[in-house]
Amino acid sequence: QAVVRVSGLRKEYGDTAALNGVSLEIGAGDAVAVMGPSGCGKSTLLNMIAGLDRPSAGSVHVHGEDLGRINETGLALFRRRRIGMIFQFFNLVDDLPAIDNVALAAQLTGTPARQARRRALELLDELGIADRRNVYPAALSGGERQRVAVARALMNRPALLLADEPTGALDSHAGEQVMDLLLDLNELGQTLLLVTHDQRLATRCASRLVTMADGRITGERTLERTA
Ligand code: ADP
Ligand code: ADP
Repeated sequence: QAVVRVSGLRKEYGDTAALNGVSLEIGAGDAVAVMGPSGCGKSTLLNMIAGLDRPSAGSVHVHGEDLGRINETGLALFRRRRIGMIFQFFNLVDDLPAIDNVALAAQLTGTPARQARRRALELLDELGIADRRNVYPAALSGGERQRVAVARALMNRPALLLADEPTGALDSHAGEQVMDLLLDLNELGQTLLLVTHDQRLATRCASRLVTMADGRITGERTLERTA
């Protein structure tokens, strides 16, 4: 069963068609990169799949669920439970240490605090930053912040990990670490959808490349990962 099925998706903002008939399927364990020039609709597509915004036409199914049939409250819940998201600028909570930034994601879905912190620590450990658990975001390096953000995104064992320019704000060394991390996660079975301008990120982490222009998919090919 497909993790994501996007069909005939359109999104208009006033006179602008941000998405102009996009169809896409992502199977379990796939790693798909979406590339294309600025303004071609990549972020809009990601937002629709995350249920952050409603299509003008067409449909999005995630894990068999039609997002168009879920109300706003249900969508917020769906996002917290099913989708992990990482962004260019981390979006960490400044006044919480690393471990609480991660644990919060599970507490928001009703997991008791102690249990959430236990899982958060496990994840920080797996991502190699357990020793930074009590450090606040401002004192973490960019690479560490993104690893905390990845841990947070994985807290609820999401069906899909969405990444929007996850290396965009990182120096090349930290960027490499995050790429390795995403690749490892995919090799462990995590389904991945990433949007990027970075050809290296795409060829390193993705097994399929989707190219967009002007709100449409213009090309699609499998990638030989460069490891
Ligand atoms: P990309 O992520 O590929 O840079 P976007 O999805 O952000 O592209 O944008 C696609 C098009 O939709 C652009 O023309 C952009 O200006 C427009 N757009 C995106 N979001 C909005 C919005 N909230 N309101 C108005 N126009 C928008
Ligand atoms: P609200 O429901 O109050 O609008 P959310 O709980 O959806 O807020 O989001 C709060 C913050 O957590 C946002 O800054 C968002 O970027 C981040 N966030 C939301 N969902 C996820 C997720 N699945 N993975 C990682 N970060 C998320």
